[in-house]
Formats: sequence, C-alpha cells, structure tokens
Amino acid sequence: MRGVPSFFIDGEVIVGFNKEALLKHIDFKIFTCNKCQKKMRVPKNKGTILLKCSGCGTKYKVRT
Ligand SMILES: [Zn+2]
Repeated sequence: MRGVPSFFIDGEVIVGFNKEALLKHIDFKIFTCNKCQKKMRVPKNKGTILLKCSGCGTKYKVRT
C-alpha cells in the first residue's frame, strides 16, 4: 500500500494517520481516549481491533 499508514488490521491498530487520501477510501469513526481525551480516527467494519492511543499509549479494544 502506498503511503504506509501507521495502522494494522487484524492485530493491532496504531492510529497516527496523516494521509488525507486514506480518508476518502475508508469510513472512520471518532474514538475519544478516556485518559487524555485525545480524539482518534478508527476504521469502521474491521471487527474488534486493538487501538493504541497516540497521545498516552493506552490500549483499547474497540469494536468497529
Ligand atoms: Zn490517550
């Protein structure tokens, strides 16, 4: 995949998107970290993913 976005499906998701082009192809929802209130985009319809907060590093299991 071009651009190598910093996330991986089926294992762990580390959100650090900066490729706006990606947003045009994937549906996202916004997840807010409980600890630091950082808002992260998570892809939809990917099943249960492990999301790592890019602000504080807290990991969440998120059903997408
Ligand atoms: Zn956080």
